[in-house]
Amino acid sequence: MQEVRTRFAPSPTGLLHVGAVRTALFAWAFAKSNNGKFILRIEDTDKSREVQGATEHIIESLEWLGISVDEGPNAPGDLGPYIQSMRLDIYKRYAQQLINDGHAYTDPYSTAQVAEFREEAKLLKQPFLYRQFRPEDSKLKVEEDWYKKSTLRFKTTIFKPEWHDIVRGDLSAGEESLDDFVLIKADGYPTYNFAHIVDDFEMKISHIMRGEEFIASTPKFLALYKALGITPPKMATMPPILNQNGGKKLSKRDGAKDVLEYRSQGFLSEGVFNFLAGMGWNDGTEQEVFSRQEIVDNFTLERIQKSGAKFDDQRLVWLNGHHIRNMPTKDLFKLIDDEFWPEAASKSSSDYRLEVLGLLQERLKYFAELPELSEFFFEEPNYNQLTIKVKKLDDTQRAPLLKASIECLDQTDFTVEALELALRELAQTKNLKPGTIFGLLRIAATGSQVAPGLFETLAVLGKETTLRRLTQALDQL
Ligand code: GLU
Repeated sequence: MQEVRTRFAPSPTGLLHVGAVRTALFAWAFAKSNNGKFILRIEDTDKSREVQGATEHIIESLEWLGISVDEGPNAPGDLGPYIQSMRLDIYKRYAQQLINDGHAYTDPYSTAQVAEFREEAKLLKQPFLYRQFRPEDSKLKVEEDWYKKSTLRFKTTIFKPEWHDIVRGDLSAGEESLDDFVLIKADGYPTYNFAHIVDDFEMKISHIMRGEEFIASTPKFLALYKALGITPPKMATMPPILNQNGGKKLSKRDGAKDVLEYRSQGFLSEGVFNFLAGMGWNDGTEQEVFSRQEIVDNFTLERIQKSGAKFDDQRLVWLNGHHIRNMPTKDLFKLIDDEFWPEAASKSSSDYRLEVLGLLQERLKYFAELPELSEFFFEEPNYNQLTIKVKKLDDTQRAPLLKASIECLDQTDFTVEALELALRELAQTKNLKPGTIFGLLRIAATGSQVAPGLFETLAVLGKETTLRRLTQALDQL
């Protein structure tokens, strides 16, 4: 059986958006689930659209996501180079083969003439087909020394295009989808239509995964495969990614970020990976939280959906929270760069921060939430501005109760168990519901109504800090 070899073939024209990276992920997961290889190929033949640094950005994004590249610009392989602009000789060789076999000719028309033809077709309300203006065979020629001087065009044959798409099923198109397209531009660079066919063949690609925008051009590709005598790789069209409302294709305005922006916000790579994998694929069960390895183990192309997949960033937040919770606190701690902690945390020991993280882990969804969730562990609440109000407690009760709590806690060991016992006892003596006292102490000790479990929080804050804060709160009442 043929080795599974898939590729991701981005053009270095900007940041890596969610749709592209999801395609890469599917291609990678499929290769890995079949002990195959995943190849990264940079398609940089449109020099006018190239953005500096984009290739490095692509490589870094894949690396962060754990999408390992077996062969590519940074991973040596036998079938390189893996950057198209370094393969011009190869395209030229294939172009020569097409010329020799009578499948290519140099464009006899100027750009202005082609524009005129187009206009003509428009007036006649007909689709523009270049081949209708193709000179008769007897007049077709290849100009000598054509390379880097003239545009080289493919001379298509006409047939009924039919092909199988692993995701979409059997597809076909009409003859009007076949045309004489450009193989090599006058600047010497090949078009995507030509270069990717040569490269996929040379790099022994077994399966092509790409977006649906390429379906319309597939008949043209089929004609070229025929002319070159190449059996096309298997094709799988990825579902488009739609915005939240499910109507339109996802755009930047819908909140989709570049992959590395998720890293900057403190999402886990495994959380983002899980999120991307879920956009258009499921394993057929109700399971939603997957490790990277589980996705590979369960991945099949047959379970990729045809219809559009919705982009829902709340789902990313939710999934990431799961991955954070499932991780041993020590491992999680190592992933959190200092910059994610509130500034005041720099004065605390890493043991203390680790303890704080242990308490917050249950609620933390991504690291950028840390300052808000953890501030009070490192900084005194601002008692001048704090309103210490607790439901079911009228104003005259608060001060005496706080005073009694301080006295009680002063006698207490600050272990979680001892704190719980002491405070429940206090509630009983005062004939109050435990929740009422707990609420009062929570806001007095942390300045916040929401905090992790009270006893755990007080234990981490420690006796000295807790009593000092409660006293300040009491002064304020
Ligand atoms: N360079 C093409 C793009 O970025 C790749 C399409 C393909 O995967 O074949 O859209």
